[in-house]
Amino acid sequence: MAKMKAVVFKKHGTTIELEEAYVPIPEIGKKDVLVKVKACALNHLDLWTLAGMPGIKISMPHILGCDIAGEVVEKGKKAHGIPLHKPVIVAPGISCGKCAYCKSGWDSLCAHYEIVGFQNNGGYAEYVKVPARNIIPITGNLGMESWAAVPLVFLTAWHILVTRAALEKKETVLIQAGGSGIGSAAIQIAKLLGARVITTVGSEEKVKRAKALGADFVINYKLKDFQAEVMRLTQSEGVDVLFEHIGGPIFTQSVLCLKKKGRIVTCGATAGRTVSFDLRYLYTRQLSVIGSYMGGISELQRIVRRIQDGRLRPVIDQIFSLREARQALNRMASRENFGKIILKP
Ligand SMILES: [Zn+2]
Repeated sequence: MAKMKAVVFKKHGTTIELEEAYVPIPEIGKKDVLVKVKACALNHLDLWTLAGMPGIKISMPHILGCDIAGEVVEKGKKAHGIPLHKPVIVAPGISCGKCAYCKSGWDSLCAHYEIVGFQNNGGYAEYVKVPARNIIPITGNLGMESWAAVPLVFLTAWHILVTRAALEKKETVLIQAGGSGIGSAAIQIAKLLGARVITTVGSEEKVKRAKALGADFVINYKLKDFQAEVMRLTQSEGVDVLFEHIGGPIFTQSVLCLKKKGRIVTCGATAGRTVSFDLRYLYTRQLSVIGSYMGGISELQRIVRRIQDGRLRPVIDQIFSLREARQALNRMASRENFGKIILKP
């Protein structure tokens, strides 16, 4: 059996568990394709998968990585219309494609929804097997490292701002952690929608970079209280939409930054999954709390068009070789990065 280079882990834990290995090249089914990985971006999901999540069992040894750019080198008998040896990206969410949720573009609500590199083996390898329907061909001059920086963060940010929050022109949005991969995507999408963008970052260097991406106001949360700053910037009214992906006390404080009729959308709980706030505050001000999770392939196709015509651009922090996966993940864990960290096999 032909083998490939991969970074794997054999038991849950920290990045110490990661090791280089030669593993069999995945065998594809009728509706699958084999993608030669050219670049794979890191996500916090990788760290959670590595640590292990309650109730979710994954096969070992496991290969992480859900943000993949590469080319299809082999396809199953029923993988029609997929170009061979042409640049493609992989939509990170695998779903049935047949249920009512999938058919209406809400793939991430499918009962069979899985994420590449999470429940399945992913892109920290030379090759990855994915369903043919997850392949999105790409064109243009952007490098494969840049394309790998697109799928998960742009899809998640798009689903939050466009589909869930329905952010409108001239509304004000606060984007938490504008220096994160998802934050840097969200700033751009919000500007594309014509909104006024306030974002928070943790260093003066990141202030400059967030402004360069189009943020109208950037708050260094290490120097200033973000809630007080948001109130000052909005003449004490608050923001229409709040893009939240941190959780814990940040979520609670974020609710207090909302304008009357405002909506807060959340997609993450890194800093704590249980929150509390005064319900009377919520109902008298008629606020909305909205959940969001990943997005659909059709949304990613819309994003790809906007990347190709230059209206959205991937933000790369640093590129590492595959064997440096541990070092790369440690950088992300310590939040030193601005934008996406990329691995190249
Ligand atoms: Zn489905």
